[in-house]
Amino acid sequence: MKLDIKYYPDPILKVKAIEIKEITDNIKKMAYDMIETMDAYNGVGLAANQIGEAIKILVLRPEIKNDKGEIVLGDPEIYINSIFSNPSIEKDVMVEGCLSFPGIHIEIERPVKIHVEALDINGKKISEDFYDFRARVLMHENDHLNGKVFIERAHKKDKEFLKEALKKLRKSRKL
Ligand SMILES: [Zn+2]
Repeated sequence: MKLDIKYYPDPILKVKAIEIKEITDNIKKMAYDMIETMDAYNGVGLAANQIGEAIKILVLRPEIKNDKGEIVLGDPEIYINSIFSNPSIEKDVMVEGCLSFPGIHIEIERPVKIHVEALDINGKKISEDFYDFRARVLMHENDHLNGKVFIERAHKKDKEFLKEALKKLRKSRKL
């Protein structure tokens, strides 16, 4: 089932998500609904805050290379109760967008590598280093679960643009 996206300035985007005690059928359904929602909006990641639930689930679709060497989106992934550690000192800059901030795309600097411990949908432990695109999406979504959003990491040069863009968003949400 496709869920409603919570848009800026919805206060749920500032709430820190809580740990999931047990992966119940309801939690599983929510995770699959989040994937359906992410796909419906052509997103590559989604955190539970963005559908109005401040609990520690994030989903993503990684970029992978197909047989022809083309970059395509791979199978969806679900991370529950993720804990991030050991970000690389090396960073890079990429343009990011967010389903909760329609129309805003800005350059964000992030580490190129991150270590993630989490559970998959079956409660199996994930403990892995992630790089590049997948690492970036994971860090963007993990920010959401910490009640933080990508515009807080914006470069100074984008501050003026952001001010105007956010004003427009707030206005459009009131209509
Ligand atoms: Zn986002």
